[in-house]
Amino acid sequence: MTRSATETDLGRTRRARRIGRVLTETHPDAHCELDHTSPLELAVATILSAQCTDKKVNEVTPKLFARYPTAADYAAANRAELEELIRPTGFYRNKTSSLIQLGQALVDRYDGRVPGRLVDLVTLPGIGRKTANVILGNAFDVPGITVDTHFQRLVHRWQLTTETDPVKIEHAIGAMFPKRDWTMLSHRIIFHGRRVCHARKPACGACTLTKLCPSYGTGPTEPAAAAKLLKGPRARDLAAAAGVDPELVPVQAVRAEAP
Ligand code: SF4
Repeated sequence: MTRSATETDLGRTRRARRIGRVLTETHPDAHCELDHTSPLELAVATILSAQCTDKKVNEVTPKLFARYPTAADYAAANRAELEELIRPTGFYRNKTSSLIQLGQALVDRYDGRVPGRLVDLVTLPGIGRKTANVILGNAFDVPGITVDTHFQRLVHRWQLTTETDPVKIEHAIGAMFPKRDWTMLSHRIIFHGRRVCHARKPACGACTLTKLCPSYGTGPTEPAAAAKLLKGPRARDLAAAAGVDPELVPVQAVRAEAP
């Protein structure tokens, strides 16, 4: 029988909060991985991040932000030039259209500024609910839950919800945590998904959540095999936090880019 079949709502919420607390200790470095200094920069970076790693986006944005500092600059952009600048992020024709239309909508409707409300943000070209929550949480300090592919996978593995629609997942998980925690919780879950609980082979034997996770055993449970699957500059700290010898983490894992 799955845990979700026997667990009460209260029990599930308590377990969710314990997971949240363990993740706070496991990923003290969790943050928005898209470099930005303003709501506009974050909106642009989030549009570019579709089907692309944050690292690649961060390689492209310094030049882009210098060349297009305002919404009006995107509105008036030369399409070929903009395409060339963002080409490494993939799907660059669609993304160029989104950026130009975003600039135009901001100039036409919001005086060139990115609005700070969900209802307004989701009306903008290229900005769906997920992107809007990223912008609210990280550029406006308005708590938001970001349901991306990692978030969905992990809350399902933890059997915190059976919902599959991102908006329903957002509401189900949001109800389990104080609002003020939503933004950082999202970062921590996404960090865990990128560094430990991978889609194909999660590092179960080197995970800090083994006692709270009904999907323990989805990936290798043997510490040496699991330690090899950890990723990112803190891979050895992650192993140690899970009670695994950090020496079992190979140097390639430490250098590996979190997807
Ligand atoms: S125990 Fe395995 S499935 Fe569960 S969170 Fe950890 S890595 Fe993911």
